[in-house]
Amino acid sequence: MSGSSQAPSGATTTAGDDAPPGTPGTGENVCPVCKGSGRAAEAPCANCGGTGVVIEGIAGG
Ligand SMILES: [Zn+2]
Repeated sequence: MSGSSQAPSGATTTAGDDAPPGTPGTGENVCPVCKGSGRAAEAPCANCGGTGVVIEGIAGG
């Protein structure tokens, strides 16, 4: 039952992250919005925060 509340300090997440970095069962994935470029249109990609990668769950399917 995890909502969209703000993450506690210490973890850096972006809008496209499913979980904070280092969370078991998750891993970096290429941002589907900017395709890993870190930029969308003329501005830094908001989905990945300009990193080009997002943290997504890799367990299961
Ligand atoms: Zn992106």
